[in-house]
Amino acid sequence: MRFEGKVVAVTGASRGIGREIALQFGLEGAQVACLATRVENAAPTAEAIGPKARAFGCDVSDSGQVDAAFAQIETEMGPVQILVNNAGVTRDTLLMRMSEEDFDKVLDVNLKGAWRCVKAVMRPMMKARWGRIINVSSIVGLSGAAGQANYAASKAGLIGLTLSVAKEVGSRGITCNAVAPGFIETEMTAELAEEFRNKVVETAPLGRLGTGADVAGAVLFLASDAAGYMTGQTLVIDGGLTL
Ligand code: NAD
Repeated sequence: MRFEGKVVAVTGASRGIGREIALQFGLEGAQVACLATRVENAAPTAEAIGPKARAFGCDVSDSGQVDAAFAQIETEMGPVQILVNNAGVTRDTLLMRMSEEDFDKVLDVNLKGAWRCVKAVMRPMMKARWGRIINVSSIVGLSGAAGQANYAASKAGLIGLTLSVAKEVGSRGITCNAVAPGFIETEMTAELAEEFRNKVVETAPLGRLGTGADVAGAVLFLASDAAGYMTGQTLVIDGGLTL
């Protein structure tokens, strides 16, 4: 029960990695605010955790919704002590075909959405002189990927955001770290070709695709007291794929 009494907010908690992170925090005693674009999508995750969890609607690309959701969390659950910026989208296509709308959408959700949520929790965390922020980046933010200029830019941007937040608020007892998952089996990656999946299994030293639980384990570690002297770091969780 590493997180008994802690209020944790997880964005994009309706499915995939975000759902797993929310469930794992719940198992470790946290009060989990499960955020999803629509409250009804977050509700099944909150119900699976139990009475200590609540569901909130929050499209992270809408500043008004972010501010309203975090104000509601504070009223109903108390100030957020741990924030996990997990919400993310892809609009993959080659650069020549990528529209400005596709570029802006991915940056607005993945990068600016995280920035909006960080801003929303900053005041209560500074007041408490304690906080943990974990941003879900990607190995693509470190290495780039053909057909993912928008997504890779957003994920690299998240690492810059992580480093800057770490420097800016470290003196207030707040740490900010990132995780960079490799190939994780979720609905986001379900459409990728079998050939590509097989290649990952063959190339990664650990010989398998990742799971939401693999990522959640690292996120919970970064939120725990064991990582109290770590900030500005990006933990790669890719089964050794990028070695
Ligand atoms: P997913 O598509 O299954 O889940 C994404 C979540 O984000 C969903 O809950 C979705 O509703 C939410 N979301 C999307 N747009 C939103 C918005 N505007 N406001 C609020 N929530 C929104 O994907 P996943 O694989 O679980 O990915 C979770 C995170 O992990 C993402 O940031 C993704 O980029 C990152 N990631 C995934 C992989 C992978 O291989 N699956 C690898 C590296 C990084």
